Amino acid sequence: MQIVTIEAPAKINLTLDVKGKRSDGYHELETVMHQVDLFDRITLEFRSSGIEIASNSNSIPLGEENLAYKAALMILQEYQPGAGVNIFIEKNIPVGAGLAGGSTDAAAVLVGINHLYDCRFSRPQLLKMAAAIGSDVAFCLSGHYFEARPGELVSRGFTAIARGRGELLESLPSRMIPNIVIVKPEFELSTAQVYSELDLEAVEQFPDNGSFLQAWNKGDIINISVYMVNVLESVSIRKKPEIGIIKSRLIEMGALRALMSGSGPSVFAIFPDNETAFRAYQVFKKDYHEIYLLSSYKRGD
Ligand code: ATP
Repeated sequence: MQIVTIEAPAKINLTLDVKGKRSDGYHELETVMHQVDLFDRITLEFRSSGIEIASNSNSIPLGEENLAYKAALMILQEYQPGAGVNIFIEKNIPVGAGLAGGSTDAAAVLVGINHLYDCRFSRPQLLKMAAAIGSDVAFCLSGHYFEARPGELVSRGFTAIARGRGELLESLPSRMIPNIVIVKPEFELSTAQVYSELDLEAVEQFPDNGSFLQAWNKGDIINISVYMVNVLESVSIRKKPEIGIIKSRLIEMGALRALMSGSGPSVFAIFPDNETAFRAYQVFKKDYHEIYLLSSYKRGD
């Protein structure tokens, strides 16, 4: 096999709680992550040596700083040092958005090279590499399966509660959420800076993950929305009040709830029906260029 193409979906954080700071400097997280139907397309092609990245986007680095490059280097060094790959990133996920754009590309590269070169690394081995690349990469990797038919690679929607730095995953039953609107404002926010400015004493609302999971298990969209809380909003909205304004506007337009994803700045909202969601999408489209009306990524059953 000389070429492999994989969809690399974005995630949203339906809840995000920070439990404290760890001795290694990272924060202890508890967050529910859910893949949505917005994806980059990663094409990998056999190359005798060297890693080359090309993309339709001029907003991402094409060298060693690209997480896809880091992933390729890591797996190829484990498998066959010196082996190469051409990587084409069709970038559809907005960059620096809190939607795990870089992490999902890295995850797709790990599973894609494993497939292209028939490296036969096990899932735990791939997950270990993923966790070494970045906090969200293990989550993003978990939606990709090899088992469907021999030689076939399938990507399915994945939802999990992630703990630790985000790499300790407990998968949740798959649920299809329709009528999601995502708005990405023009600016970017540094994840590291948002975490460093978090003051847990100043947080007004923490997620109740127990109640969220009950609603999730029942597939109860109303209560799923009620229990969506992200503690990082307290920092990001203070730095960029536009995030709060987007949230309020989405609610005024009929959303069940609107929440910032990850450390921002993207805001997503769940609407009760397609008509209301489409109306909001049209209104926001006048002001925002990166705006999406979508649902969960393909359901896994
Ligand atoms: P997360 O939700 O995991 O915090 P994010 O969605 O906020 O991630 P990314 O889109 O991954 O952010 O981009 C963060 C930074 O990573 C950008 O400034 C970008 O230059 C860099 N980056 C490296 N590789 C990639 C990639 N393949 N795609 C997007 N950004 C990348």
